[in-house]
Amino acid sequence: MNKQTRLAIFDRLAAAIPDPTTELNYGSPFELLIAVVLSAQATDKGVNKATAKLFPVANTPQAILALGEDGLKEYIKTIGLFNSKATNIIKLCEALIQHHDGQVPQSREALEALAGVGRKTANVILNTAFGLPTIAVDTHIFRVANRTGLAPGKTVLEVEKKLDKSVPPRHKKDAHHLLILHGRYVCVARKPRCPDCCIADLCGFKEKTR
Ligand code: SF4
Repeated sequence: MNKQTRLAIFDRLAAAIPDPTTELNYGSPFELLIAVVLSAQATDKGVNKATAKLFPVANTPQAILALGEDGLKEYIKTIGLFNSKATNIIKLCEALIQHHDGQVPQSREALEALAGVGRKTANVILNTAFGLPTIAVDTHIFRVANRTGLAPGKTVLEVEKKLDKSVPPRHKKDAHHLLILHGRYVCVARKPRCPDCCIADLCGFKEKTR
C-alpha cells in the first residue's frame, strides 16, 4: 500500500470517528491500568460494570490492597479469569507502592515489569493515559491491518512494527483507537460491513461483502 492511500485511510477514519478513545471508563492512569488488566478476554462493557462499583470504593493501590485479594474478587467476580486477575492486581499494587510511589510509571519497561501487564497493556497505557503515539495491536487491529493491507503480518508484533513505521505522523497518536473502533463496529470479524465502510475503495480485502 502506498503512502497516499495510507494517509487517505487514516484521514477518512479520523473524519468518521471524531472521538477516538477507549470505551473503558476511567478517571486516572491507575484506574485505566486496572480496567485494561481486567479487560483481557472480557468485554469493555463487563469491565465498566464492575469498575463502576469498585472505583468509588478503591481507586488507588493502597485502597485496593486494603480490600485484600478476596475483597477485590467480590467486585470483579463477574469478569472472566477474575481469580488470576485479582492475584495480578494485588501484586501490581504492591509493586507500584514499592517502586513507583503508588503512581503508574510512564515507561514501557516499568509497565511491563508489573504483574499482568504485557506489551499490549503497556502500549494502551502509554497511548491512552499518557498520550504517547504507541499502537497496541489487539485482535481488531490485527484483523483490520491484515484485511485492508495497511500492515499485513503473521504476528501481532510484526503488525505493530509495521504500523509503527507506516502510520502517517499526524494520525499516530489516534491510530490505535481509530483502528480498534473501525474493527469493532465496521470491519467486524465474521461479516465485515463493507457496503457501509468509509474506506472500502481504498481497502485491499479481496472478499468484500456486498
Ligand atoms: S471494506 Fe470491508 S474489509 Fe475493508 S476495511 Fe472496510 S469493512 Fe473491512
